[in-house]
Amino acid sequence: MTKVWKLQDTEELLANSSNGSFSCITIQTFIMMPLNASSPSQPLFIMAAFLGVVICGTIFYQTNQPVSETRIVLNPYSSVDWSSSGHYKAALHVHTLQSDGYHMLEDVVHAYRDAGFTILAITDHDWNYPNARVGWGHVPEEEASPYPKEPKPENFPANTTWPWTDYGGPAPEAVDMVGIEAAELTFRHHINSYFTDYGVWYERTGSEAPYGGIVNEENVEIWEDDQLFDIRESGGIAILDHPGLSQSHGFWDRKPLYWYIERFNTHSPDYLIGMEVTNTDRTADLQLRENYDEGLWDQLLAHFMPERPVWGFGTDDMHRLDDVRDSHTVFLLDEHTEEAVRDAMKTGQFYFTKSTLRLNFFDDKMSLFPSIESIFVDNDAGSISIEAGNYDTIHWISAPESADPINDYKTSDQPWPLGTIVHEGETIHYRDVQGINNYLRAEIIREEEGELYRTFTNPFGLINTD
Ligand SMILES: [Zn+2]
Ligand SMILES: [Zn+2]
Repeated sequence: MTKVWKLQDTEELLANSSNGSFSCITIQTFIMMPLNASSPSQPLFIMAAFLGVVICGTIFYQTNQPVSETRIVLNPYSSVDWSSSGHYKAALHVHTLQSDGYHMLEDVVHAYRDAGFTILAITDHDWNYPNARVGWGHVPEEEASPYPKEPKPENFPANTTWPWTDYGGPAPEAVDMVGIEAAELTFRHHINSYFTDYGVWYERTGSEAPYGGIVNEENVEIWEDDQLFDIRESGGIAILDHPGLSQSHGFWDRKPLYWYIERFNTHSPDYLIGMEVTNTDRTADLQLRENYDEGLWDQLLAHFMPERPVWGFGTDDMHRLDDVRDSHTVFLLDEHTEEAVRDAMKTGQFYFTKSTLRLNFFDDKMSLFPSIESIFVDNDAGSISIEAGNYDTIHWISAPESADPINDYKTSDQPWPLGTIVHEGETIHYRDVQGINNYLRAEIIREEEGELYRTFTNPFGLINTD
């Protein structure tokens, strides 16, 4: 809770700006006053007035100079010591046999550990009973999970898969991992909840699909806002999952842009911290959904930055370990602890990746993503520089040209204009580049053997008071 978001910086800058103007007007009024009064020695007053304009002009120039141009007021990496902070690989959206995944928790934990992950959140669906895949005939009966054992958790079947030791897994610290209690809330727009045991079980009414009508015990409709407020009350944090999931999924209902704006307006960045930008769920058409999710992120950043950041997350939404498209999140931490991860989630102190490569966790082969060695923001020089490795190019992206829809959000996989690439290269001089609005983000990209590897930074917030 030390550093939540940095509106303070913006407020400080704006406060400095009005102080500057105030002192100028005060001096000007004071010096000009004698001129209006009838006076025997007018030349002296004219000289005083002239001096006043000079002094005033100087003060105005000095006090207002910093805010009369574009400045970075939100830098998610401002606390990172690039020479000492660790890069911790995180999987924040992962399923097991405890909902509709294919594997025991223990196998999942070890597969991720072996692939170099040191932060893991198991996000089993709250609306699946354990062994859903056994029931659907996808996993043989003899591989079914025997967990949870009797007595069942209080909120079964909407319980979280936590603690891991109750589900046949190791304690996170025994495998040198930070484990996060989590769930994928699935009755409405999918929401990943973290650091809470919250989960809901509503009897579905009238339809196979959750959107067909979800009610609580009193027959009152339950909506996303109810769930998000409950997450806040239970001390958790949340992100919105895979917005562009195809409408052809029976359990899914795509939302218009204004729906997302309303959610991020209604719920503070203290607990609704962001969205999945690169969910590579194997059932979705990766290429098509890309423009939907990334376009939505840029639209939201254009709307909300820098006052209300919407952090971007990358996940693989793993169900099968032998069929994954690599996408994950990397935290920049001084300490490998749950508290440090939670703080970093809220301040955006992480980056995320996505490749087109299809992975099998049982192979050794892993993606080699462009690495980030350092990010340096220099407001005096007006620049952001990224030192990276294993890359071909760096794209700098700012707000889309328009917020007007270009296609129907239900049927199109690109309903909104995408963010604008304003510059390419390691360093951007943001005062000299045209087309930059309220934020900038970078993508570090490499293409190799027909596969695309992308590393995404979180957004930097800018203000320009010209
Ligand atoms: Zn989902
Ligand atoms: Zn999922």
